Amino acid sequence: MAQEDVFKKLVAHCKEYGFVFQSSEIYDGLGAVYDYGQNGVELKNNIKKYWWDSMVLLHENVVGIDSAIFMHPTIWKASGHVDAFNDPLIDNKDSKKRYRADVLIEEQLAKYEDKIEKEVEKAKKRFGESFDEKQFRETNGRVLEVQAKWDELQARFVKALNDSNLDELKQIIIDQEIVCPVSGTRNWTDVRQFNLMFSTEMGSTADGALKIYLRPETAQGIFVNYLNVQKTGRMKIPFGIAQIGKAFRNEIVARQFIFRMREFEQMELQFFVRPGSELEWFQKWKQTRMNWHQALGFGKENYRFHEHDKLAHYANAAVDIEYRFPFGFKEVEGIHSRTDFDLSQHQEYSGKKITYFDPELNESYVPFVVETSIGVDRMFLQIMAATYAEEEVVSEDGKKDMRVVLRIPAPLAPVKLAVFPLMKKDGLAEKAREIIDDLKFDFNCQYDEKDSIGKRYRRHDAIGTPFCVTVDHITLEDNTVTLRYRDTMLQDRIVISDLRSLIAGEVSMKKLFAQL
Ligand code: ATP
Repeated sequence: MAQEDVFKKLVAHCKEYGFVFQSSEIYDGLGAVYDYGQNGVELKNNIKKYWWDSMVLLHENVVGIDSAIFMHPTIWKASGHVDAFNDPLIDNKDSKKRYRADVLIEEQLAKYEDKIEKEVEKAKKRFGESFDEKQFRETNGRVLEVQAKWDELQARFVKALNDSNLDELKQIIIDQEIVCPVSGTRNWTDVRQFNLMFSTEMGSTADGALKIYLRPETAQGIFVNYLNVQKTGRMKIPFGIAQIGKAFRNEIVARQFIFRMREFEQMELQFFVRPGSELEWFQKWKQTRMNWHQALGFGKENYRFHEHDKLAHYANAAVDIEYRFPFGFKEVEGIHSRTDFDLSQHQEYSGKKITYFDPELNESYVPFVVETSIGVDRMFLQIMAATYAEEEVVSEDGKKDMRVVLRIPAPLAPVKLAVFPLMKKDGLAEKAREIIDDLKFDFNCQYDEKDSIGKRYRRHDAIGTPFCVTVDHITLEDNTVTLRYRDTMLQDRIVISDLRSLIAGEVSMKKLFAQL
């Protein structure tokens, strides 16, 4: 299946099965804003728990907070967001569509990368077993030619970004003959900077309302609480503060479903360290975070690190963790060494001393910070993309059938156990309810009595339920049920009293944590 089709199917599936809805849909929707449905919210909560527990439970020196979305406006001046949280935008005069100039150029770079990969794939097929990929990449004329174009474009792009040279960004777009995907023309406006923060007013206008911003990242809420937490928690450096919360960005180009939203959720850790040790901690967190992703079992080959070409104004090292989405490798998480920039700025703007007295060194300093920042929604999309599968199966009456299954890791699955009475009568429904009543405090269970058992399996495959149990007449005699496994579709006859421990072992987050 073409990757674009996979993506379209994912979006449709998310809607059909109550994972994600367009916001304000009955009013024709609101651009790049989404609501999570009954299954979506369960998955989202499980993702957050997986992240939170891996930070706060598993690290003795990490604690959490929940800071307000509204903050004093000077915070955003100090952090640099008022002046520098911009994206370079460009419009196509014919289609009137707006794009991010940097994204257009990145897509051009990706096209060169694709060309190289296609050459490699072709050669792989032609040479079979004897193919030496490394040698091919280093010597093949066509590959080298495209690579040279990539290198040249990349170098020019990075320089333009670092110099904040908007004219040069436009010139690159012209020289590369990049066309608008909608109009197909090269009739571009100049490139302009666009601030991504939403603003609103607090207080009544009569007594002078205060212009405040909706936070574009949760991090600043942590920095301005650094002293509170350090003092009240008697935290010793190195230590971290974790937070999960909403963030808002007025994204210029908000396509790709929940990949780029205007209202989204972040899970951020700010880890405070001794000056000079930040790059060591940066490496540690880089690996820790990659392990967290890979523990989900979506294939190591589908992840890569991407070093930043242009460092943000506050960083001295930065890397993204990218996942191979149906539309290519894209960022799901950023790890940044933010130096002492934020705390120093807040010290300056607030006039309050923000330092740490290090008893081992017998000196005070402004701590350095290593940040890990991941979007809940992008993580959600990663899980959907990684686990969605269409498979041919043989139904109970021997006919070939198709099933859509979400192979969501059991600890993250929205519903853990579905219980079906074979039929409603003869006390089977009551017995099924009894099982649910017994297990519902342990994990999310659902009762389903409608349609054939086969159809009920399909419904639960489609939302990723790892276990289904069927209650039949034999159950009434010997207290056994048929347990059916989502991934293998195998069935076992097991005693009801064994269900709890069997399922608990599989759906526990401990299964994931054991791999970290
Ligand atoms: P991008 O380059 O894709 O715009 P970014 O580098 O600006 O992302 P960060 O500021 O590092 O992103 O934010 C950290 C994380 O927050 C990202 O890795 C991503 O998972 C998430 N995120 C950022 N912007 C959005 C958005 N508009 N919608 C959904 N998630 C987002």
